[in-house]
Parts: sequence; structure tokens; C-alpha cells
Amino acid sequence: VSPVIATVDPATGRTVKTFEELGAAEIEDKIARSYERAKSYRHTTFAERARWLNAAADLLDAEVDEVAAMMTTEMGKTLASARAEVAKSANGIRFYAEHAESFLADEPADAAKVGAELAYAAYQPLGVVLAVMPWNYPLWQAVRFAAPALMAGNTGLLKHASNVPQSALYLEDVLRRAGFPDGCFTTLLISSKQVEPVLRDPRVAAATLTGSEPAGRAVAAVCGDEVKHTVLELGGSDPFLVLPSADIGRAAEVAVTARVQNNGQSCIAAKRFIVHTDVYDAFAERFVARMRELTVGDPFDAGTQVGPLATEQGRAEVEELVADAVAAGATVLCGGKPLSGPGWFYPPTVITDITPAMRIHQEELFGPVASLYRAGSLDEAIELANATAFGLGASAWTSDAGERARLIAELEAGQVFINGMTASYPELPFGGVKRSGTGRELAAHGIREFCNVKTVWVG
Ligand code: NDP
Repeated sequence: VSPVIATVDPATGRTVKTFEELGAAEIEDKIARSYERAKSYRHTTFAERARWLNAAADLLDAEVDEVAAMMTTEMGKTLASARAEVAKSANGIRFYAEHAESFLADEPADAAKVGAELAYAAYQPLGVVLAVMPWNYPLWQAVRFAAPALMAGNTGLLKHASNVPQSALYLEDVLRRAGFPDGCFTTLLISSKQVEPVLRDPRVAAATLTGSEPAGRAVAAVCGDEVKHTVLELGGSDPFLVLPSADIGRAAEVAVTARVQNNGQSCIAAKRFIVHTDVYDAFAERFVARMRELTVGDPFDAGTQVGPLATEQGRAEVEELVADAVAAGATVLCGGKPLSGPGWFYPPTVITDITPAMRIHQEELFGPVASLYRAGSLDEAIELANATAFGLGASAWTSDAGERARLIAELEAGQVFINGMTASYPELPFGGVKRSGTGRELAAHGIREFCNVKTVWVG
């Protein structure tokens, strides 16, 4: 039986390092320390928290080489994208260090109207918050929880995905070295089966999860039963709409990056390409040619654009979805079969002639496989874009102001990017509607999720 918590190099399939999951007594000790720390940590100042966070950002910058290599070994992203993720994480940390105090400033109300001398809303910490995080951005996903949660005065527990234990331990270590007192941020090396008792522990106040819909549903069900707040950032099947007035060359170029970024394993990767019939052929020709040209290979090689999928299971799921579509009559324009040899490589793939009954039409495809659709009109394009259970991001390409207004108003998504690729920025809220989740990460919205919005009335 292979150990549950392990670093397995996806480029070779070789197990690099295994870890023991924590036992009940160790989990108890870590929750107790987090809870005790939360009582004093909430009284630290914003300036102190910001100082520690900025020190952590400086350490990330200084340690970028080793941290990037660790992430590439654990989940197969290219070294260049791993380095970019370290820089993005340092930037996100500095953003909250700088802005948290103003995001959480008291909000005065019209005291006379409510019969008070003084009335306002205050943002106070909740206490211990558990984050259940995925492997696709091992550092950035955890940082976008840790930075706002810590700046708000909470302590954090991290249950990271079982295939990125070294990244999980690194984050605890770097925050500790940056000066955060013991217990402020704690990694729990536990399996998903060990999460429920932590969620039910009365000392744990709230939870946030990024990952698949089943994982989100499982955590939300327990938190619902315990009446605990959750933030859920789940899957997506993001549309990428191309309309006749768009710059087709630019759209096709960005479409490739939007699909294959992170080896195709991003919640906000464009997954369904919906192209107006007037420009369909022109777009498809460029898009398929560029997808075919991509270099697949060792994620440590500077020339590699697409590395392996993170897990054997992940690649098997991609294979299954493609096989299901092909068996039901879909056409493969490029790729379509896993690469032979060691590692979990899957080539950039474009599939068309997709019907609503196919699984690829309904489910999140986590790999470098694009679904290409033809739409006869703007109405049809919007209808197709919304014909999904998910609603995370959407990217739409047009230079027509009327179309732009309709797309912004009518696309069912937590974020709409016009003439650009969906991306996350600390300055902008991030989250979904429908089955893509609830609540928001990033910006002011993200930090307030981890707060008790306390109404204060003084007569
Ligand atoms: P999961 O959603 O299963 O894993 C995400 C996190 O949730 C991990 O820490 C995992 O722990 C944990 N988890 C899983 N099940 C439970 C549970 N029942 N209770 C508590 N915690 C749980 O992702 P997978 O790696 O299995 O990927 C499966 C699919 O999920 C992908 O193919 C993709 O479609 C989607 N996904 C989407 C992401 C996104 O950003 N939208 C990110 C990752 C995956 P453990 O690793 O120990 O199982």
C-alpha cells in the first residue's frame, strides 16, 4: 500500500519522500496550541502582523530557487511557472500586510438614526480557521488564505493536499522563521478522512476549502451541521467566448495559455472555447496549430511549456473524459492520447463536435484539453457559456461595446474578463457562483470572510 502523504515526482512516477500522518494526540496538541495562541495573537497590532508577513515575503524572494524546485518536484508545474508562483505569493503577502488595516477599519453608521451616541461595524477575528487546500498552486493557494487570515488576527491550520507535504511544511516553517509566534500557523499532515473531527472541534471556528466539488460538499456538509462559516472555491468549466469583432490572432494566442497554464490544472483555466461561426475557422486553425506546437516535457527544462499532470489518477480522469467523448462521436483535432513512457504526461488536445450528453460537456476537465464549440450568434454563445453547473470565471473577446455590456451582465460567473485571460489578483475579489463555490477570496472581501462583523452600539 503506498503511503497516503508523499512527494511523488509526476515526471517520473518515482516516490521521493513519504510522511507519516499525524495521530490523534498530535492533532489534539496542534489544535490546542493554535487555540491558545489565538487568544493572545488577536491582541497584536496590525503593524506587528505586517512586519512578520513582510519578513516572510522577503524569505520567499530569497529562497525562490529551492521553493520553486520543490513545487516542480511535488506536482510537475514548469520551473518557470513555479518561480512565478513564488513571486506572486510574496506579492500577495505584501498586499495584505499593507492594506489589511484599512480593509478592517471600523465602519461608522449614522448613530442618531439608531438612537445611539456611537454606532459602527467592527471587524474582529474569528479565532482558529482551518484551510483545506489543493495541490495545483501549492504555495499561492495556501498564501491567499494565510495572509488575510493572519492579518485579521486569526490563527490558521492548514490541511494541504496529500501530494504536496513538503510545500505544506515549508509554509509553516517560513512563517515561523519570519517571526510569527508558535501556534499562529500550523500545518497538519493529515489525510482527508481525518478532516471531519477537526471541523467538528469546538475550538475551530470556520473553514475554507479550495478543490473539487465533492471535497467542498463534504466539508460544507460538516460545517453546515456544526453551523460554522465556510468559504468554498471549487471547480470551474470556464468559457472563453470569441466574437467576430475580436482580435482573432490575439484571442487564439491567449486561448492557448489560458488552457495549458499550470499543465491545464487551474480552476480558472479556460476549458470551453465558444467561437462565433463567422470567425470559427480562422480561430480554430490558429488555436489548433499553436496547441500542436507546444513543447511537452521535463518541467525542469527551460524549453518546456507543458509538464506532466500532477497525479496518475488525474491523468486517468482526463483519459476517461476524452475516451467518453470520442466514443460518443467527438472529433479530436490534435492530441487525444496519453504519452507513453514514465511520468503522467498528456499532450495539448483540442476536441470538437461535443454534445450535451458527453461527460466532457458537464464536468471539469483538469488537464490540457480544450473543448471547441461553434455558436451561431451572441445569444447562442451566452446560452452555451451558461449551460454548466459551474460559474467561476469567464473570458470573452469582443470590441463591440453593446456586446461587452451584455457579456458582463449575462455571463453566470464570479468574474468576467473582457479581452484578457481570467486570472487572480490580490486587488480583485475571487470566487464563484453556482457549483463553483460560495464566498470570496482576495481583496477586501477575502479578508472580511474571516471576521466577526461585530455591530457596536453605544448609548
Ligand atoms: P480534491 O478536491 O479531492 O482535493 C483538494 C483538497 O481537499 C485536498 O487537500 C484533499 O485532501 C481535500 N479533500 C478531499 N476530499 C475531502 C473530504 N471528503 N473531506 C475533507 N477534505 C477533503 O482534489 P483532487 O486532487 O482529488 O482532484 C480531483 C479533481 O478536483 C481534479 O481533477 C479537479 O477537477 C478538481 N480540483 C479542482 C481544483 C480547483 O482549483 N478548482 C484544485 C484541485 C482539484 P487529500 O489530498 O488528502 O485527498
